Amino acid sequence: MLLPQKFQKLYLTPKLLKIKFSCLLVFVFYSCSSLPFISDRCNFPEQALEPGGILNLKKNDINHNLLHIDYLECGSGNNKRIIAPIAYNFDKRLFEVLGVKIEEKSFRNSYIKITDKKFNQISKEDLIRIENERKKYINVLEKDYIATNLTFPLLNPTKGITSSEYGVKRFINNVQRNPHLGLDIAADVGTPVYAVADGLILLSDNFFYRGNFVLIGHDNNFKSSYSHLSEILVKQNEIVRKGQLIGLMGKSGRVTGSHLHFEVLFFNKKLNPELFIQ
Ligand SMILES: [Zn+2]
Repeated sequence: MLLPQKFQKLYLTPKLLKIKFSCLLVFVFYSCSSLPFISDRCNFPEQALEPGGILNLKKNDINHNLLHIDYLECGSGNNKRIIAPIAYNFDKRLFEVLGVKIEEKSFRNSYIKITDKKFNQISKEDLIRIENERKKYINVLEKDYIATNLTFPLLNPTKGITSSEYGVKRFINNVQRNPHLGLDIAADVGTPVYAVADGLILLSDNFFYRGNFVLIGHDNNFKSSYSHLSEILVKQNEIVRKGQLIGLMGKSGRVTGSHLHFEVLFFNKKLNPELFIQ
């Protein structure tokens, strides 16, 4: 399928090549693993200086030469702003250099019980499957896309009750696992799930842990994902609009009941979805 120009992959534009070259020159002092991503259009929510939050500051208030984190630069003239993700496990020092203090936040413990043997004693075949899915996912994350109309707040992806919020410390069968870096919304199997903003379907697949899973690429290095669906109603490379039905809630993958596990990613860091949705 041939995508319209506005949806074509953005790899290295001449502007980014120039930035990359200048990064090489100043590499002596700071790592330039991250390149500024420049956009005229952005209306990100106000900043939330906490794990899983965002930094949203006037460029003039920051010594941007020292900015060595992933960031988006948007706006023009004196109104230029710097927008950056604050990962769950952010590096304090990187933000201290900018003069920005990130608030500590304590997250509650969450204990869940998984009885399905498939997830407790993972077979050799499933281990191979998990590894292949991990590679596929990483490969897609590394690509970036330009789309139009990433508008905030994002639409609420579905209706239901919040059964697990972002950041909780997850214990599965009493063993501590990775923290929960999404938002769980629980309702009946078959509840409609909608795209939270315009975008491009980067993945539409069935994964071992995530079950039926959709990943959407939006504008400005922003992505959203929808896991455990009972049915997927979109295909990879399809363009979707904000509010479009993309699937139905379900209990596929590793779950204790029917719910949507919803994630937002900014520069591939999983952030707190509640800061971005209505
Ligand atoms: Zn979840």
